[in-house]
Amino acid sequence: MNIPLLDVNAQNLPLERELKEAFDRVLQSGKFIMGPDVQAFEQEVAEMLGVPHAIGVSSGTDALLLSLMTLGIGPGDEVICPTLTFFSTAGCISRVGATPIFVDVCPACFNLRPDDVRTKITSKTKAIIPVHLFGQSAAMDEILTIAKEHKLDVIEDVAQAIGAKYRDHYCGTFGDFGTYSFFPSKNLGGLGDGGIVVTSDSELASKARILRNHGSNPKYYHAAIGGNFRLDTLQAALLRVKLKYLKQYTHQRKQNARYYTEKLSSLPSITSSSLQSCPPISATDTPNDHTTLILPKQMPHCEHVWNQYTIRILGNGNRDELKTLLNDNNIGCEIYYPLCLHQQECFKDIVTSEVHSHSEQLANQVLSLPIYPELKADMQDRIIELVKEWISKKYQI
Ligand SMILES: *Cc1c(COP(=O)(O)O)cnc(C)c1O
Repeated sequence: MNIPLLDVNAQNLPLERELKEAFDRVLQSGKFIMGPDVQAFEQEVAEMLGVPHAIGVSSGTDALLLSLMTLGIGPGDEVICPTLTFFSTAGCISRVGATPIFVDVCPACFNLRPDDVRTKITSKTKAIIPVHLFGQSAAMDEILTIAKEHKLDVIEDVAQAIGAKYRDHYCGTFGDFGTYSFFPSKNLGGLGDGGIVVTSDSELASKARILRNHGSNPKYYHAAIGGNFRLDTLQAALLRVKLKYLKQYTHQRKQNARYYTEKLSSLPSITSSSLQSCPPISATDTPNDHTTLILPKQMPHCEHVWNQYTIRILGNGNRDELKTLLNDNNIGCEIYYPLCLHQQECFKDIVTSEVHSHSEQLANQVLSLPIYPELKADMQDRIIELVKEWISKKYQI
């Protein structure tokens, strides 16, 4: 059985007729740049999330870049972000001329640890970018408290977590900006690149709209320097088709996660983290000596939307061994992420002597299993069987 990490055709081909209708509508209209589907899509996303403003952009990366530019963050400023995330979170900070300051992540929720955020604040700190990694919210209560105390902007990177909630509110609606990606592997996957920025602040929204289009206002008059961060009309039209199914896709992801957790935890050496909140740096997270594998969990106050189902395999080299075994059996799985950002060559000049013990350990332990909505039960059974067999053989249990 061949089981890919993601199967975009399994999701898109059943929508072929609707997607082609959307394509035809845009083709006939001839309005390929900022056509009516862009505004309609923005309105639909804003309504779904319960925010007043949504601004369609060219990618999740450009959503972050546009947010930073709109907040006027630049040279001399420091922006705090987790060290275990997709590159673009920090890349954008550097691209506006500011300095990314990397913070350790929590071994239970994989998101930045509020106590480490506190230790990294200086007089130059301007903003925090919490990332809601793998589909689950960061500890927003603590982060918002810190931001308020130090008058910092908050940009939520929601690329992996559209539809996730924290205390019954959607992720992305707490900060000054929430930024989303429609890269095909995200929970709302487009047919190409795309993104959106949301905000509750009318002034920030109109500034962002202007910067999205070269800072042009009115046309050919530039009071500020922006970029071309526009979302294609065609992509917006296709995304409108898929947005209608997002709830259903999310429901299926949740079911798949529940199934993995239920079946895998029948082995006594496989457990979920015992942590109920992000621990201090000194804490360890190995529930007991017999634990071989730690399953991801939904934290208190969070509604997880499972962009990834990321397990931790303990013991030196064991993660790579299991990954090879799964790949040899035609099962797609991936390491998000094999190297922390503070360890990346491109940031070596800005990183000082920092301690990121949890993050570096996680980079050696994590493995994401297929969780996409269209994954079939017999496929999951096969993956579960292989993982359990490997554990039993390896540990003689
Ligand atoms: C995917 C992703 C991005 C970037 O989105 P693109 O649309 O690929 O540019 C940013 N941050 C995180 C956490 C992501 O997963």
